[in-house]
Amino acid sequence: MTSVTEPQLAPAPTTTAPAMLELAGLHVSYGAIAALKGIDVTVRRGEVVALLGANGAGKSTTLRTISGLLRPASGEVRFGGQRIDGVPAHQVVGLGIGHSPEGRRVFAEMTVLENLRMGAYRFGKADHVDLDRVLTLFPRLAERRRQIAGTLSGGEQQMLAIGRALMGRPELLLLDEPSMGLAPIIVAQLFEIIREINTQGTTVLLVEQNAAQALKLAHRGYVLETGEIRMHGPAADLLHDPRIREAYLGEGA
Ligand code: ATP
Repeated sequence: MTSVTEPQLAPAPTTTAPAMLELAGLHVSYGAIAALKGIDVTVRRGEVVALLGANGAGKSTTLRTISGLLRPASGEVRFGGQRIDGVPAHQVVGLGIGHSPEGRRVFAEMTVLENLRMGAYRFGKADHVDLDRVLTLFPRLAERRRQIAGTLSGGEQQMLAIGRALMGRPELLLLDEPSMGLAPIIVAQLFEIIREINTQGTTVLLVEQNAAQALKLAHRGYVLETGEIRMHGPAADLLHDPRIREAYLGEGA
């Protein structure tokens, strides 16, 4: 049963929206360790898609492969219909894919503003329109614009990592476990901002261990287990699926 205080599920974009990102038969290994064993994932323009799974399932590997940090052993990554597997990471950013990595890797010695400006490096110089947009989305960062990033709270550093990725004007934003280590109230605020980012037109692929929060935000979801997609479907269906509730929402059968 849905409580009245829960956020509404996001309205699904039309299923005829074109595929923005397609992973087809993707295999990725670290030496002898097969991390992804032939996964197929589609993200359509306008969607928020959640990629769920336990520790070590291969979620970060998926994002790192999309953003060009890892090369697949086989299979394809297509963005806007073009193959991008094998394209180096700095060029993938230029194609319109922003990546906020796991563990909020901000530049600890730099200020908030300097970190944000780094996110716009592909344009040479940060545009004040982009800066204004990010600081409006994250008023907390606006208040702390001159603070050294390493002294920010965990939630603020997560906001900064996302804000920095937005400075590159991504069409597709890859978010790796934004909720990790954050208090529930901060997670709720952060997820509302991610919803707003999507409403403003950015497609989002969201990796999360917090399945409940992720599925309330997402339109569709995929469940990764040891490098394979076990389930996928509309987020509302996954949220109510007994297997998901037992394995990822801590509700014993
Ligand atoms: P987590 O939520 O713990 O970050 P994940 O779902 O993101 O997990 P990955 O980090 O993608 O999982 O890891 C998938 C598998 O690949 C795991 O078995 C992991 O041990 C292995 N792996 C990841 N990075 C490396 C690496 N640099 N070298 C060797 N093996 C790795």
